[in-house]
Amino acid sequence: MYLANEQRYEKMVYRRVGKSGLKLPAISLGLWHNFGDVDPFENQRAIIQAAFDHGITHFDLANNYGPAAGSAETNFGRILKEDLLPYRDELIISSKAGYYMWPGPYGEWGSRKSIISSCDQSLKRMGLDYVDIFYSHRPDPDTPLEETALALDQLVHQGKALYVGVSNYSAEQTAEIAKIFHELKTPFIIHQPRYNMFDRWIEDGLTDVLADEGLSAITFSPLAQGLLTGRYLNGVPEDSRAHSGSPFLTEERVHATLDVVTQLNELAEKRGQSLAEMALSWNLRQPTVASVLIGASRVSQLEDNLKALNNLAFSPDEQTKIDTILAKLVIN
Ligand code: NDP
Repeated sequence: MYLANEQRYEKMVYRRVGKSGLKLPAISLGLWHNFGDVDPFENQRAIIQAAFDHGITHFDLANNYGPAAGSAETNFGRILKEDLLPYRDELIISSKAGYYMWPGPYGEWGSRKSIISSCDQSLKRMGLDYVDIFYSHRPDPDTPLEETALALDQLVHQGKALYVGVSNYSAEQTAEIAKIFHELKTPFIIHQPRYNMFDRWIEDGLTDVLADEGLSAITFSPLAQGLLTGRYLNGVPEDSRAHSGSPFLTEERVHATLDVVTQLNELAEKRGQSLAEMALSWNLRQPTVASVLIGASRVSQLEDNLKALNNLAFSPDEQTKIDTILAKLVIN
């Protein structure tokens, strides 16, 4: 029987989400990769237990995580039932609807029908009565924002979600939906955007909107899927994401960024950090970022990444050096 580490709350840093009462661990764990039916179950269990043992209270899922789509929620539900159920009130579990999940006109995007059906499916797969945060995974160009907002609001009223969030919404869309949620008094507290040294789009308007609206970001792919770690410094390992044929992280991308990654790695060494640690600290320097949402294919990666919390400060000189190195990146 799993017994959580009694020291689990001693080292983790918890940061407030916007103006809400909710705090998230500065490092949260996402289950997009490595938690599907194709992945060894005991490794999944080991990663989740190690995360919670280190004070990672937040686990992020979505309807379509796998493969097969849905299997990450099913596997997480099993680990929850077998190991973590006594700790349910110590956990923040999130899921999302928006990307393709089932055939026909209701299996994706942001209609009321799609969002509410998808949330019900996610709860069933995970064996939960409610999720802590439920997201609209992407904006739907064909559904009025008000309909998506009202569907999320209804989930809160039904007791199926405690808080709601949006993901991949632009600064303008975020400001617009925030206004609707404000009128409805929906507990809309969080935005989940991609943010890392290679993709800084949120600095161009979104962080201002978040600050103005009293919201926070939880940033996904803070390690650029592994590029901003030591993973590819000496080639592309066979067990890496870039080698797996992922459409989101190609070997070409690894080669195109290698020079810049090598220089960032040297700078990280001067700070007494690994590149992964520096990439996470850099992400967390943004006041509107409450948490970084990492992935991990093994316990050792998770444990390495937690060391980022030992050095979160950047001098102006270090920030300038990072900007100068990043400016050398020709492709984006
Ligand atoms: P990361 O940028 O953290 O990449 C994680 C990958 O990097 C790992 O699987 C591993 O790859 C490698 N890695 C991690 N730590 C180390 C280390 N210390 N040393 C070497 N390699 C390391 O995040 P993800 O892209 O996985 O995304 C994280 C989460 O964000 C997802 O699980 C999901 O919850 C969320 N997300 C949300 C999206 C949205 O649209 N809302 C979209 C994408 C993600 P390897 O397999 O090669 O070992």
